[in-house]
Amino acid sequence: MRDALMRNYARADLAFERGEGPWLYSTDGRRFLDFTAGIAVCALGHAHPHLVKALQEQAAKVWHTSNLFRIPEGERLAARLAEHSFADRVFFCNSGVEAFEAAAKIVRKHFDDRGQPDRYRIIACSGSFHGRSLAAIAASGNPKYMDGFAPNAPGFDQIAFGNSNELRNAITDETAAILVEPIQGEGGIRAARLEFLRELRRVCDEFGLLLIFDEIQCGMGRTGKLFACEWADVWPDVMMLAKGLGGGFPIGALLTTEEVAQAFGPGVHGTTFGGNPLAMSCGNAVLDELLKPGFLEQVKATGDYLWHKLEGLVQRHPQVFEAVRGSGLMLGLKCRVPSGDVIAAAQERGLLTVGAAENVVRLLPPLIIGREEVDMAVGLLEETAGSFAAAEQTL
Ligand SMILES: *Cc1c(COP(=O)(O)O)cnc(C)c1O
Repeated sequence: MRDALMRNYARADLAFERGEGPWLYSTDGRRFLDFTAGIAVCALGHAHPHLVKALQEQAAKVWHTSNLFRIPEGERLAARLAEHSFADRVFFCNSGVEAFEAAAKIVRKHFDDRGQPDRYRIIACSGSFHGRSLAAIAASGNPKYMDGFAPNAPGFDQIAFGNSNELRNAITDETAAILVEPIQGEGGIRAARLEFLRELRRVCDEFGLLLIFDEIQCGMGRTGKLFACEWADVWPDVMMLAKGLGGGFPIGALLTTEEVAQAFGPGVHGTTFGGNPLAMSCGNAVLDELLKPGFLEQVKATGDYLWHKLEGLVQRHPQVFEAVRGSGLMLGLKCRVPSGDVIAAAQERGLLTVGAAENVVRLLPPLIIGREEVDMAVGLLEETAGSFAAAEQTL
C-alpha cells in the first residue's frame, strides 16, 4: 500500500482494533491502559455501552439534515449545557478550533454592533493553545505553532499566564476580550491560580471586556466539576468546549450569554456539519453519564488518589520526575529526563500517555477509571522510572 498520508504527525507505530473502557487492544494483539483518552476526548473510555447505543440508534434514524432545519437533539443538548453553566445560548461546531473561531468572531461582532469596531483585540496568554487555524496560532503567540505561517493574523496580544499586572498593562482602548485556559493542556498542564481567574473576572468587569474561557481540554468533567472555572466560582462571558463533549465524536461548542449571543443573528456565522444529529446524540449521551449523581465527585476522588500516588512516584524517582501538576484527572508529570523517552518507555510497558510543553508527560485517563486502574498505571510508571535508573547504572 502506498504511504499517502500527510506527514504532519509524529505517530507512534501502533494501531488499535478495538477498545473497552480504559483499555485499547492493538492490531498486533497487545493490550494498553489508555491514559491519553484520545487527548482528553474519550471521557467515558472506549465503546461505552450508553454512547454506542446512542450513536447506533441515531445512525438508524437520521444522520444529517444541516442547519436549514431544527435539530431536536441539539436543542436538548444546548438547553442542558445552558442549565449547568452561565450560558443562555450555544453554538455547535465540529472541533475546538472552530469554537475558537466562533469566539473570536462573536467578540468582534459584539463590539462592532455597539459602534466600537476599533475594539477588536484579544489578550491571550503565553503557553496557551487554542487550535491550529491562522487566528488561533496568532492568539497563542507561540512560535512553535506560528513559524513559517507569516503574515500573522492581526488582533491578538499576549501576557504571561497568571500575571495580573501584565494583564492590566496590556489593556488598551482596542482591547475587546481576554482569553484564558483555566488549566493549560498543551502548554504543560499549567493550572491558573484560582485567584488569577477571579482577578480576570474583576478586570473584565472593570474595563467592560468579555472574558473567554477555553475549556476545550479542562472542561466536561475532567477536573471533577463540569467546568474547571467552577473551582474558582467564576463564569466567563464566552466559553469554548470540544474534546470530551462528544466522547469521541467530533464536536465543538461555544457557550455564551443572551447579550453576547445577539451578535450572531441569522446568517452571520455558520457551519454545514455543526450540531448534526449524530454529534448531538453523542453529546447528550456523554452528559447523561457525567451528570449522574456522584460521577463528578468520583472523578475528583480518583484524581486525588492518582495525584497522591504520583507524588510518591516522584519522591521515589527524583532523577526521572520533578513534580506533579494539574487537577482532577488532568495531571502532568514534569520530567527530568526527556518526556518523550518516558512516554515511549511507558508505552512499551503497556501504558499510553501524551506529551506536553515544558517536558511534561500528560495523564488524561478516561473519567470512568477507578483505583484499580490508577494502581496499574502507577505500577507501570514505576517500572518505567526503574528502567531509567537501570540505564543510568549501565552507563
Ligand atoms: C485541543 C485544544 C484546542 C483545539 O481543538 P481542535 O479540536 O484540535 O481544533 C483548543 N484549545 C484547547 C485548550 C485544546 O486543548
